[in-house]
Amino acid sequence: MAYTPAYQPLDENGFLDQAAALCKTRGASLTPIRRQVLALLRHQPGGLKAYDLLERIKAVRPSATPPTVYRALDFLIEQGLAHKIGRINHFVACNHDCHDQAGLFLVCPGCGKVTELHDEVVLAALSRSLEAAGHTLSGTEIELSATCRDCGQIEPQAN
Ligand SMILES: [Zn+2]
Ligand SMILES: [Zn+2]
Repeated sequence: MAYTPAYQPLDENGFLDQAAALCKTRGASLTPIRRQVLALLRHQPGGLKAYDLLERIKAVRPSATPPTVYRALDFLIEQGLAHKIGRINHFVACNHDCHDQAGLFLVCPGCGKVTELHDEVVLAALSRSLEAAGHTLSGTEIELSATCRDCGQIEPQAN
């Protein structure tokens, strides 16, 4: 299964600067706390629970309170820079540069790791099936329960 990103991966600051520039073109601002939250999410490719994120933010920004962190998260989600995975109440940084269509979020039931996939072929087929069934896709996050490679290697206990 090959996924080829449409753009070259950027280093940390390059990514954050690009995110800041994107916000600016929309008349929004990537304030220091928003930037820090995004950077922390980027460091945790599998995503973070709000509580863990809060702990990490406090380590670098002791004055941060839960409401400021939640507001920063709301902002990042609104801007398409982060996603909320409702299934496990996890937040992940977006690893794609555009969101003109929905992403597939593979959520491992074993370890909670989240992988974001943009697969046009799968989405097109899914949309057709949904329409045939009288539904249309709502929202940009499609969550799927899918065991990751690491968890898949653990031998199930024989009983
Ligand atoms: Zn995304
Ligand atoms: Zn796993």
